[in-house]
Amino acid sequence: MVQAILALDQGTTSSRAILFDHGGNILAVAQQEFEQIYPQAGWVEHNAEEIWTTQLTVAKQAMAKAKISAADIAAIGITNQRETTVVWDRKTSKPIANAIVWQDRRTSAFCDQLRKAGQDKLIQQKTGLVVDAYFSGSKIRWLLDNVPGARQRAEKGELAFGTIDTWLIWKMTGGKTHVTDITNASRTLLMDIATGDWDEQMLELIGVPRSVLPQIHASSGQIAATTSDLLGKAIPIAGIAGDQQAALFGQACFQPGMAKNTYGTGCFMLMNIGDKPTASKNKLLTTAGWQVNSKTTYALEGSVFIAGAVVQWLRDGLKIIKSAPEIEQLAASVPDNGGVYLVPAFAGLGAPHWDQYARGIITGLTRGATAAHLARAALEGIAYQVADVLDAMQQDAHVKIKELRVDGGAAANNLLMQFQADMLGVPTVRPKITETTALGAAYLAGLAVGFWKNLDEIAHHWLVERRFEPRMPADEVAQHRSRWSEALRRAAEWEPRTSS
Ligand code: ADP
Repeated sequence: MVQAILALDQGTTSSRAILFDHGGNILAVAQQEFEQIYPQAGWVEHNAEEIWTTQLTVAKQAMAKAKISAADIAAIGITNQRETTVVWDRKTSKPIANAIVWQDRRTSAFCDQLRKAGQDKLIQQKTGLVVDAYFSGSKIRWLLDNVPGARQRAEKGELAFGTIDTWLIWKMTGGKTHVTDITNASRTLLMDIATGDWDEQMLELIGVPRSVLPQIHASSGQIAATTSDLLGKAIPIAGIAGDQQAALFGQACFQPGMAKNTYGTGCFMLMNIGDKPTASKNKLLTTAGWQVNSKTTYALEGSVFIAGAVVQWLRDGLKIIKSAPEIEQLAASVPDNGGVYLVPAFAGLGAPHWDQYARGIITGLTRGATAAHLARAALEGIAYQVADVLDAMQQDAHVKIKELRVDGGAAANNLLMQFQADMLGVPTVRPKITETTALGAAYLAGLAVGFWKNLDEIAHHWLVERRFEPRMPADEVAQHRSRWSEALRRAAEWEPRTSS
């Protein structure tokens, strides 16, 4: 009997596989970390072969744990670290170099050139993105220009490019299928966000030949099937989405104006904006949310660089807590922040400020300030950053959200979730199943093969674990946010600008 969907969650530091049953419950999880390669400052690489072998291993482990065979699996859904770029030889399936990871900054200079040449407007119009080394396009260009002979081989059609979804599907189909989905394609700088197809002008501008590109597929559908020897029987591959989009789907944010925020090392907030790829006026990204039943749903995206990472800093840098969860008790031991504000601009500020010269600041210190005030200020600093992104989103999308659905490691912190609700003026809502990324990929796959009937059925499975209602008086909220803005102003442009 078919009883499960297998979600492959290929993340930045580990490969995971999760089996879900029809109720969206977890049957088994397996996880393996893999090597992070730092060849020089600002460069981050992964060995694509290791990504594949760890992913395959965990898939088999999850099946063994749940005592489930391939015949019991209705479909596979894939979700992946986004933008990470692999180029391989179509004949041998061997990567021509290590994968360049999304965090890698080696192509910043090329992106600066594009901006200086005034191409950023056109690029935003076409792709919904800002010009940045983060996205795949300039990484493909780099590989073709820096691996000897690669560009000529690419022009002859001998090489294939893929984000991690594409690479995994290539391997799972024995090199038969070269596809990606619209959410991953929308992170390359090469796709026209309005048409969902590769854009000639962008290919020309970034310097990527069409011959290396995969076919863009919907996020849910009969995309391919695994070879039968891989897991014991051919299994349909029926869902693909980049990790953040998958989480938006897994949080069942199916209506325009619904939003989720993931509180991890950084924060990723996405809001469903419906069927039009509205451009942001506040430096947020417009991205494909998913394509299901030939209908594309778009999302606005904003990220905060340092969120849970500030908690790690309190633990490892300042050593005022021993573990991340301890911060809650410490912060709760004082009634308020005692006037202390912590802006964790350790790596500049992301959306909507985009100030790479900003640096961290602790302000409002008095003789009475304690580690507990600092802990509180650190948690509040996460919430203020999220509130700033959400304000920008609501402005861009001309909607007011009704609640914020939350997930990620730091969403376990009740004090943070309550303060967040207070600052937003709408509830924060934590679901029962917080594995929203893998769940989103499973839902996309399950929808395609009839394991789940429709979005309504899925929305029904989404259950609340805890809801935090805003309860702080409006004048107090305004006072807090105004002090935060003051602190932000003092953190801004701290680092001297490098002349370039
Ligand atoms: P990532 O996927 O980015 O590795 P996770 O979703 O696993 O992140 O979340 C880990 C982050 O959450 C860490 O930065 C950690 O400091 C933070 N974190 C974990 N538990 C708590 C907690 N109870 N309160 C605040 N922060 C927490």
